[in-house]
Amino acid sequence: MDKTILDALKKNNDNALHLLERFVQIESYSHDKEGVDRLGKDIIDVFSDAFPVKTERIMEVEQGDHLRIQLGHGGKKILLLSHLDTVYPKGTLKQMPFWINEGKAMGPGVLDIKQSYVMVYHLFQLLLQHNSHDLNKVKIVWLLTSDEEIGSPTGQHVVLAEAQQSEAVLVLEPATNDGKLKSARKGGGNFSLEVLGISAHAGLNPQDGANAIEELAYQITQIVKLADHSRGTTINTGEIRGGDLFNVVPAYASTKIDVRILEPDEGIRVERAFKNLQVKNQRTQLKIHGSVYRPPLLKTEQTFKLLSLAQKVADDLELKIEDTLVGGGSDGNYAAQTGIPVLDGLGAYGGFAHAPEEYVWVDSIAERSTLVYGILRELLKNSA
Ligand SMILES: [Zn+2]
Repeated sequence: MDKTILDALKKNNDNALHLLERFVQIESYSHDKEGVDRLGKDIIDVFSDAFPVKTERIMEVEQGDHLRIQLGHGGKKILLLSHLDTVYPKGTLKQMPFWINEGKAMGPGVLDIKQSYVMVYHLFQLLLQHNSHDLNKVKIVWLLTSDEEIGSPTGQHVVLAEAQQSEAVLVLEPATNDGKLKSARKGGGNFSLEVLGISAHAGLNPQDGANAIEELAYQITQIVKLADHSRGTTINTGEIRGGDLFNVVPAYASTKIDVRILEPDEGIRVERAFKNLQVKNQRTQLKIHGSVYRPPLLKTEQTFKLLSLAQKVADDLELKIEDTLVGGGSDGNYAAQTGIPVLDGLGAYGGFAHAPEEYVWVDSIAERSTLVYGILRELLKNSA
């Protein structure tokens, strides 16, 4: 593949930015079903106006609806993954408006994940221009889940079902800040631990109390020992609460803990250890909730094959690509459970995802669209 496609896309950056702005202007916080659904509807409008696609909303009651957009109608399937939701509550746009400056586009969700919608727009255009024949044999399915940013409680089932029947899964999550693909991701989960103690006066009858904070402090020292850096298992005590007044023995304390794993066995070990936590002060009680729900996305032999395809395309385009392991999870983790080849972090790149300064490099949208188009073209060649 030569560079003319890339150059043509870069020339068309103005259109790409209009589209990006349109999608960023519709806020879509994970917990705001109305906003997520409004964005879903707008994506359907834009894509059905421009392309001969089949669209479907997969209804949810509390979360936003998931979205499935299909181009082509062949028997084989290649899956593109992104999501509708962002981490930004409704109203964030007021402090963080869409803004373009020095090659960067800024705004809530611009990098994670709205750049990917523009990429798919480019991809569908290129596929229809150059590969319409292949689309009789292969269909491209773009799946957008509605709750990825909160661990895909409902989206994971849709991802699994869709990935199971696919030849390959390309995840359009942003690349790392320096443009690396994500060939492996840690899995993980979270736990909450509550300690129920007994309240008493700190001066008059402390012996009648059972100090929940002291018990919690002890439990945390036990929990952090579950980390095993040699196996990639990390533990983070991220939140702690308890007590009201210095002269009262506290009856309640709680903590929230984040767990990341690289090996599936480690998930089982850590879950078991949480279940088996024992109180030190027999007059307190523990309440434990949580699980290690997200499986790791491992760099398998299948990943290597996809990576070498990507490498070949990148060489033609005179781009340098590298890949890496990251600690954060995505829907790619769920897709990988099927054993189907998954390559993640194929999206554009920028910085400060999930933070007020979030931005995407405008040129990287064209670059990554061309790269993914090249990968799709190779996959089409192999399966058509
Ligand atoms: Zn994301």
